[in-house]
Amino acid sequence: MSKRAVFPGSFDPFTRGHESVVRKALPLFDEIIIAIGQNSTKNSYFPLEHRSEWIRKTFTSEPKVNVDHFTGLTVDYCVQNDCAFLLRGLRNARDFEFESSIAQMNEALQPEITTVLLVCDPRYAAINSTIVREIHKNGGDIAQFLPEGTEIDL
Ligand code: ADP
Repeated sequence: MSKRAVFPGSFDPFTRGHESVVRKALPLFDEIIIAIGQNSTKNSYFPLEHRSEWIRKTFTSEPKVNVDHFTGLTVDYCVQNDCAFLLRGLRNARDFEFESSIAQMNEALQPEITTVLLVCDPRYAAINSTIVREIHKNGGDIAQFLPEGTEIDL
């Protein structure tokens, strides 16, 4: 059976940290779907179309990676797309506390889905999409935090 994983997130925007989690996970899975979650309580800063396009371009030469978006529960999306694994990244102990709670609650909802938590590359541990957005809102240059070649002004 092919090993398919979903990497869910807001990716507002998708950063070098997110990219490194996906690249680390590639040898573990046959396919990784990067799924942009549209949260009913959070308005995004960057439009969905731009976020999808940036991710697609980043992995243009990687056939195992696909990009999609969804609303609703992540575990429901995993079941609907035949994905047995849910991928998330850890930057620090705070992420660990948060991610382990979500993983346990997701497992209570769908015991057949396994969450895989990957520790991020220390070079990218400080990169946080919320701060990247703040820098952009205030006119700062965010290119160094985004995957190489991301066209911010699409
Ligand atoms: P969400 O809104 O679901 O938290 P994010 O886009 O903020 O979505 O993050 C998606 C996943 O990527 C989470 O597991 C988060 O911990 C992880 N992540 C965020 N930033 C980084 C980073 N710099 N390095 C590694 N993982 C990260």
